[in-house]
Amino acid sequence: MPELPEVETVRTGLELVMRGRRFIHVEQRRKDLRFPLPERFAERLTGRKVSRLTRRAKYILMHLDRGEVLAVHLGMTGRFSVSRARRGSASQLGEFTHEHGSDTKHDHLVFTMSGGPVVTYNDARRFGYMTLIPEAELDHDAFFRGLGVEPMSGELDAAYLARRANGKKTDLKAFLMDQRIVAGLGNIYVCEALFRAGLNPWRGASSLAAKNGKPTAAAGRLVATVKAVLQDAIDAGGSTLRDYRQANGEVGSFQNAFAVYGREGEPCMKPGCRGTVRRKTQGGRSTFCCPACQR
Ligand SMILES: [Zn+2]
Repeated sequence: MPELPEVETVRTGLELVMRGRRFIHVEQRRKDLRFPLPERFAERLTGRKVSRLTRRAKYILMHLDRGEVLAVHLGMTGRFSVSRARRGSASQLGEFTHEHGSDTKHDHLVFTMSGGPVVTYNDARRFGYMTLIPEAELDHDAFFRGLGVEPMSGELDAAYLARRANGKKTDLKAFLMDQRIVAGLGNIYVCEALFRAGLNPWRGASSLAAKNGKPTAAAGRLVATVKAVLQDAIDAGGSTLRDYRQANGEVGSFQNAFAVYGREGEPCMKPGCRGTVRRKTQGGRSTFCCPACQR
């Protein structure tokens, strides 16, 4: 499943070919993905210009003229690929084009943009979804209402974590995975952030706050490592677990750079630590950690 850095990578890739362009033709091959597509979806998109692309949690938001937003969630296997309508226009698209592969059975939506790019949404398992939301109602929409702070924003700081964790009975990992606290954090990057911070995933979340409610040193370390693991992954172009691909059709390289995730039984990578990485189920998901240096 694409996590936040992968979604951010796709957003960046799509921005390069969609920003400032109009939907000239929308080919809708199904009525639904995970959920039904909006009424008159193709008709409502056709002619609209994409003013900018942003991200909220793991949603890509395509802001359209006339005040609507096309919100896209990639689910498990959703991906975009970019090709071109005619060979003659290739030079305008540069390195962000690639010839679309032969796996067209799961191409559910094909967007032909002004100026030549063809953006295809492919989703083998169809857990992804798209919806059109009036921009003014975005924060109140069922998908976005109640989401916590963006981890890469200034809103995530040690004081915020301490305030939300104070008195909580849950463990640290469950706390970080709670989308109402921090939006868009998933299993892989939570494991990585806790490892870098030297914090045990089973430690109580309330340990992020001191008795007086002020953030502890652990809260400060955790904020720094959450931001760092996400930024490193975004810089590396997102990981490519399973059949996931970047928007430009190239495969990223971060999957080899995980320090603890997927390394069960391997020696801990922290300098000076002689521990071994363990995997244990926690809240229904695999947690990877080094019991020797994560306290
Ligand atoms: Zn260790």
